[in-house]
Amino acid sequence: MDKNKNEKMEAIVSLAKRRGFIYQGSEVYGGLSGTWDFGPLGVSLKRNIMNLWWKMFVQDREDMYGVDAAILMNQKVWKASGHVDTFTDPLVEDLETKQRFRADHLIKDAGYQADGLSLEEMTTLIRDNGIKSPNGNPLSEVRTFNMMFKTHVGPVDDESSISYLRPETAQGIFTNYKNVLDSFYPDLPFGLAQQGKAFRNEISPRDFIFRSREFEQMEIEYFIDPANWESEFTKWVGLVHDWTDALGLPAENVHELEVADADRAHYSKRTIDFEFDFPIGREELLGLAYRTDFDLSNIQREAGKNMEYTVKGTNTKFIPHVIEPSFGVERAIMAVLSAAYTEDEVNGEKRVYLRLPEHLAPVKYAISPLLKNKPELVAKAREVYDILKKKHGDVMWDDNGNIGKRYRRQDEIGTPFCVVVDFETLDDNAVTIRDRDTTEQKRVNISDL
Ligand code: ATP
Repeated sequence: MDKNKNEKMEAIVSLAKRRGFIYQGSEVYGGLSGTWDFGPLGVSLKRNIMNLWWKMFVQDREDMYGVDAAILMNQKVWKASGHVDTFTDPLVEDLETKQRFRADHLIKDAGYQADGLSLEEMTTLIRDNGIKSPNGNPLSEVRTFNMMFKTHVGPVDDESSISYLRPETAQGIFTNYKNVLDSFYPDLPFGLAQQGKAFRNEISPRDFIFRSREFEQMEIEYFIDPANWESEFTKWVGLVHDWTDALGLPAENVHELEVADADRAHYSKRTIDFEFDFPIGREELLGLAYRTDFDLSNIQREAGKNMEYTVKGTNTKFIPHVIEPSFGVERAIMAVLSAAYTEDEVNGEKRVYLRLPEHLAPVKYAISPLLKNKPELVAKAREVYDILKKKHGDVMWDDNGNIGKRYRRQDEIGTPFCVVVDFETLDDNAVTIRDRDTTEQKRVNISDL
């Protein structure tokens, strides 16, 4: 049975909170909009996803190097990259409540196309079509709003001490390109990869973790000879699909949106937004862009440092071009949870479970003694727990409530296998293993676990 979209989203948000995956940030103080905290299971899921990415794109490849740059960077970075001037979203104000909204979102919500429109065109469209704020009030003119969080570094609050919380991790890669080149002199093409926090002062954060003000990115700048950009881009399209497969996302729910010329950043020659059918609708999961030599050329010009690559054994020099796959961790988590969330019926009773791929599940095995007031069962179950804990790490001891309740709880957190130690175990050294998806139970010898 498939719930309607909002109901499914609400069910996932509520499960995420109830079971310790994701909580509203600063919840005890009434929350802080656009921030989310990961609980014990959420942080495991997040790490499993980030480690999988690191393994696929860095550890398992010869042409990839990891970096971990500082979040605070010299303000010149953001001037040269264009973020100070152009990292903006269109903002409108409810003229009565003074609440602020993303103009393009209100336009789209009202059923019109907003992509590629100038501020004036948006203002006209809103006026001519009588688009109102969600509170039903008239709206102001549309203006730009810079999404970077500004701060000051050091004890003096003046122009020279301005810094920003990075709105993307990419610039920390570009600023280290020359360092890595000098240390390793890799053959072209090669990539630099980074995972880390990014901050955007989104005008209206919404849809659970989908649009947050603080989130995590996993980005790669893949440096290439511009002569090969088309074939390199095609390879990355394939690799992105490998990634969504590895997340267990059904291929039919992943879509490529070729971004039109008018909607692309001016420096990008080609961009594909990979969209996913989230419960909130089809939305961007991650992006793949051909960023040309825009960023390295900016650095060369503004910092006065040579960013050229010399092809080994030749005198050929050029500034490499860049293919950039940019992955959002929260959107990956939301996609994984959406794909995994399943309702069915077991023995006439409704059941909710997360059909998480085994390699992403926060808990791989839950171990229970059939009865927790029987010391001999508890001792035996502890033995099994210790064995599995050593082997797999992600193992949970669960002796709360009766077995049926334990199964339901483990189903809800996506544990693929529940292991139960009963009286027979004491005689035959075998346990019952129950499969999350089929609910089938098997007897297995402890030594074969
Ligand atoms: P959108 O159009 O949805 O605002 P974007 O095109 O601005 O996204 P990019 O700048 O391409 O996003 O950022 C790369 C990736 O970072 C996105 O595909 C997404 O996965 C993630 N991301 C961007 N903004 C947010 C956010 N506010 N909250 C969570 N993830 C985000």
